[in-house]
Amino acid sequence: MSSLSTSQTLTKQTKLRMPQQKTTTLQAMPLEGFHKTLEHHAGRPLKMRINDNHSTMLSVRWEPDHTRVSLHRMFLNAPTNVMEALACYLKGNNRSLTPTLKQYIEQCRQQLDYSSAINPTELSHQGRYYHLLDLYNEVNEEYFEGRVKLHITWFGQPQSRNRSRISFGLYHDTLRLIKINRVLDHPNIPRFLITYVIYHEMLHHICPPNVDGEGIHRIHNREFKQREMEFRYYQHAVEWIRQNKVNLFAGVTNGRT
Ligand SMILES: [Zn+2]
Repeated sequence: MSSLSTSQTLTKQTKLRMPQQKTTTLQAMPLEGFHKTLEHHAGRPLKMRINDNHSTMLSVRWEPDHTRVSLHRMFLNAPTNVMEALACYLKGNNRSLTPTLKQYIEQCRQQLDYSSAINPTELSHQGRYYHLLDLYNEVNEEYFEGRVKLHITWFGQPQSRNRSRISFGLYHDTLRLIKINRVLDHPNIPRFLITYVIYHEMLHHICPPNVDGEGIHRIHNREFKQREMEFRYYQHAVEWIRQNKVNLFAGVTNGRT
């Protein structure tokens, strides 16, 4: 459910973390100096924009005579080794992100909180059969002592179509937002399945991804999987999905099951 970096645009929508203390040990470099330093090390002209975007951390286009880059403000505080890796990337000889860059972006993402950008009146909690916020609160109380502060909403259409893949839930980490697919708002869907999906998405906040030494994002890492199995109906949910996968993909909510 998480997509990282396609065609040099680094965005992501799944994962999550507990709000963390912001550490500002480094002073942000003045913008002009930052631009010049980066340009100098990249060895080519840069058309640079600093963004404060909840989804785009780094977006780059290599033009013949310059590099166009949109950088999240997180880079203004980047330590030297990250600046070097960034300059090298902007140069364009090697267009894959190094583990150093990926790790820095991931660490910084975990401190970003754009949840105030969400208009609560635009969130949809009441389904036809299930009330998402009630279920979320129950899970929060039972497993997290009510401490987790996230938004939740339905998304998509209640009617499922033939498809090869269904996302039951999504987690937008920087927005602190869980989205649950409306195809689950149906009497054929057991309550434990929806609470399992909610629990899973909440875990993305509790057990955020890590980037390993090879630069691979470990989203459902070992800690995540261990915590996931603590869900009371974990085995039931896994078994239910296994048995009903075919029906779901065919459109369980169209009454074909
Ligand atoms: Zn997941």
